[in-house]
Amino acid sequence: MNLAQFPRRRYTAGFTPIEKLENLTRYLGGPDIYMKRDDLLGLAAGGNKTRKLEFLMADALEQRADTVITCGAVQSNHCRLTLAAAVKEGVKCQLVLEQRVPGSYNEDASGNNFLYNLMGVEKIYVVDGGSDVAGKMRAVADELIAKGRKPYISPGGGSNEIGALGYASCAQETLAQLFDMGVKVDNIVLTSGSAGTHAGFLTGIAGMNAGIPVTGIGINKGRDAQTESVYNLCVKLGDKLGLKTPVDKSDVIVFDDYIGDGYSRPTQGMVEAVKLLARTEAILLDPVYTGKAMHGMIDLIKKGILTGTVLFLHTGGSPALYAYQKEFM
Ligand SMILES: *Cc1c(COP(=O)(O)O)cnc(C)c1O
Repeated sequence: MNLAQFPRRRYTAGFTPIEKLENLTRYLGGPDIYMKRDDLLGLAAGGNKTRKLEFLMADALEQRADTVITCGAVQSNHCRLTLAAAVKEGVKCQLVLEQRVPGSYNEDASGNNFLYNLMGVEKIYVVDGGSDVAGKMRAVADELIAKGRKPYISPGGGSNEIGALGYASCAQETLAQLFDMGVKVDNIVLTSGSAGTHAGFLTGIAGMNAGIPVTGIGINKGRDAQTESVYNLCVKLGDKLGLKTPVDKSDVIVFDDYIGDGYSRPTQGMVEAVKLLARTEAILLDPVYTGKAMHGMIDLIKKGILTGTVLFLHTGGSPALYAYQKEFM
């Protein structure tokens, strides 16, 4: 895997830390648990979309875009970070927000919504859940083109084969760090949403022939649909990278047991996991992604499904906590 062949902007100085979670490990009575702190990536409040944006923004700038259009849920970390990257690069940003939970958009809401406005989003369009969001983004782009502007559409979650390069790169970074630390990890756990993180990391592991199982905790789709979308992106990314050892479908591991009533809807297990990490490690998870994934990791450890040394990828999202305060009272 030669990632240097792809244009990239840099939004983080150096590597994100890998920490041993001593207190959580002790609390659970083993196995050893480590955390890769991608919540500490660069751009406003960090999180996994920063790695994808390094490649997506480089592509947008290469195409001389003056405006980036993307989409997400009403409290989208991806939208917040795309806007942050746009601010850094001196281009405009317009967002299409999907009310996946009916009536969930509130223009005065805290969390990421507050940050959209603070960082000066140019325009927000709100559409109902299940609408043709990609079509809406194209319509927004057409309007801009008619005004002589040059828009660039970045997909939801930044999850195409360009954005996913960021997580192939993260897999490389992680293995180099673990080697340096002298830590042999047996299992990696991450959140599986729009699939770019899962597919990118898994493809990176395959590209280095590292053979470490990557377990994705779903937060949205059922197991089969999620497996399919992760695998399809692995194939595209594997082609882009020219891998001789592509990801096999049987390598795509997804659990959908921790979603609860649906995307972004709080669960008891999520609330407990967020509180546990706050009170044992002073680490802030988020209610939509990493709280559910941590619930999953703890449950799978307790059930003996995840064994040996486990590395949890913290993909960020803590600003959303402030929009969910009452769930934690
Ligand atoms: C987007 C997001 C994820 C999921 O990553 P995907 O690449 O969309 O699967 C996980 N955690 C946080 C905090 C996110 O914002």
